[in-house]
Amino acid sequence: MKRHATNALPLPRRDWALFLDFDGTMTELAPSPDAVSVDPALRPILAALELSLGGALAVVSGRPLAELDALLGLELPGAGVHGLELRERRGGLVHPPQDMAAIRVIEHALAPMVEADPRLILEPKPGAIAFHYRRAPEREAECRAAMARALDGLKGVVLIDGKMVLEVKPDHVNKGVAISRLLAVEPFSGRIPVFAGDDRTDEDGFEVVNAMKGVTIKIGPGDTRASHRIPSVDVLLAWLKEMSGLLSA
Ligand SMILES: [Mg+2]
Repeated sequence: MKRHATNALPLPRRDWALFLDFDGTMTELAPSPDAVSVDPALRPILAALELSLGGALAVVSGRPLAELDALLGLELPGAGVHGLELRERRGGLVHPPQDMAAIRVIEHALAPMVEADPRLILEPKPGAIAFHYRRAPEREAECRAAMARALDGLKGVVLIDGKMVLEVKPDHVNKGVAISRLLAVEPFSGRIPVFAGDDRTDEDGFEVVNAMKGVTIKIGPGDTRASHRIPSVDVLLAWLKEMSGLLSA
């Protein structure tokens, strides 16, 4: 893990509730979701932080919680699929989302296009569907058009325009709602929320955390409501490592 100046970020506190996005925040983005590589230093750092923060450490990701558990080797509290799945405490039960017919309609509509081009990936998630075109960026316009046709007339769902991925999920939950729900229960309640993320879906989380006078951190370029910005995943990892050292001292 490289060292970088993390001066731009505040000194850590034991009364923080720390919320972390995963892809593009704790790990570099990969050509496909299953090609992601996790820094081996990350797991011990997160385990130490979880202890120092009294368990108030959660992953808030677009991935299903089961994937995050497998990648991190830790069953941390968290929100999966942009808040559709919720788990309030380590190793606790996952509240699964309800299946929506509209999501299956989209899956069915896009399947022929994906079958015809193996570079396109249709990723079913609990309660949602993701359409990845990262390996075929020149087909972006076609993918967008196909998604728009699939969505036509469907109600109760929203399109998330991510980094080389178009995702559809129910419109009543987002990362901000998920963070609010976690902050309503132990061990998160009464703590100062801190949230780091890199993508547009993280902006809902930034809004909620800013409103609670917490700390918000955007990784990388792009418009944001976050109060702090750092350039890269490496800097975030360096900051988490510093934090784990300071808080366990
Ligand atoms: Mg991300």
